[in-house]
Amino acid sequence: MPPHPLFFQGGNGSRLTDLDDNTYLDYVLGWGPVILGHGHPGLTEAVQNQLPHGATYGAGHVLEAEVAEMVIERIPGAERVLWSNTGSEATQVALRLARGATGRRRFIKFGGHYHGWSDAMLVGYRPGPTGDLARGSEGQPEAVLDDVTIVDWGDIEAVRRLLQGDEYAAVFCEPVLCNSGVLAPPENFLTELRRVCDATGTVLVFDEVITGFRMSRGGAAERYDVEPDLVVLAKAVAGGYPLAAVAGRAEFLELTTSGVVHAGTYNGNPVVLAAAKATLEALDEPSVYETFENHGRKLGEGFAQALTAHGVPGTINQVGPVVQCMIGVKEAATFTDFLAADQKFYDRLLVHMLRRGVFTLPGGRWYLSAAHSEHDVEQTVDVFEAALKATLA
Ligand code: PLP
Repeated sequence: MPPHPLFFQGGNGSRLTDLDDNTYLDYVLGWGPVILGHGHPGLTEAVQNQLPHGATYGAGHVLEAEVAEMVIERIPGAERVLWSNTGSEATQVALRLARGATGRRRFIKFGGHYHGWSDAMLVGYRPGPTGDLARGSEGQPEAVLDDVTIVDWGDIEAVRRLLQGDEYAAVFCEPVLCNSGVLAPPENFLTELRRVCDATGTVLVFDEVITGFRMSRGGAAERYDVEPDLVVLAKAVAGGYPLAAVAGRAEFLELTTSGVVHAGTYNGNPVVLAAAKATLEALDEPSVYETFENHGRKLGEGFAQALTAHGVPGTINQVGPVVQCMIGVKEAATFTDFLAADQKFYDRLLVHMLRRGVFTLPGGRWYLSAAHSEHDVEQTVDVFEAALKATLA
């Protein structure tokens, strides 16, 4: 990150310390997973307690079942859970389950939604050098482009039209589009997706890698009261340790016992599951989610007021503890609005914040953890305003 790459020596709660002993309020949170803050005592103790008993067994163990029960209890529609290591792996598993269940190959995803870096999933995430939204990376085989149809977030008519042909195995979405503007789903859109998937035998997959255990105890599915067939979980589930999961209806997940392959040496290892158990328990502490909402709102409103006070056009989106700042756009409800934001201005703003001890993601997104205090939030709003002045100077 300009002006110099950052190297950290450690973190504590809402703060990180770099090699030169500078301390930063952290809104990156490891790109999302560190939902309890750094070095959370309960989480650290749970991992420490597991370590003398071994790192991995290559067979079932009690924590696997215990934490699966915790997921089932929290996530709407979850009857079974498969463990995996990363979100990218888990979305792949979800796609294979959908294909195995339906015998269909293609899937729908929405422009700007990120479902990991695998060949097919990367299609339609960001426009390439020619503005074309299809390819995501050099080295991605041309053939995968035909697997995916990209639709605009919220365009239910397009989904309806495409699904008429019985060609699509699944519809994938980030139920809140966190990766491109923190765009909440348009009203009734998720419910309509559920309806059209039901009517056409298409598997509805919520990629809740970011939203899971963050937008509410039961993720976006609970927040918007829609039960998908499959939910992909990662990031917050283990508070910073590498764990992912596919949860959902038994009829799909049980396909792994009748021909759909799901493998992985480290899947469901006891160290990360000990971390997950401690994380989910800590998230059950009173008022965690209420505080997420309050702090998210306070941060967002503070940023919006600072923009107005300094005559900087821009907009702030916020859902729960995820906030997005977009400079130069009046309102951001679509991926196109998000792409229109002035990233160059934001990059300069970000460096001014960094110099004042606030570490945040490039691109405008902010994550709050349970370790951020009201005072942290107030201090951050002050830093934002000072950084804004410095950027304008
Ligand atoms: N899905 C979403 C919504 C994500 O935000 C990410 C990562 O940021 C992934 C999938 C991929 O997860 P991972 O980086 O663990 O492979």
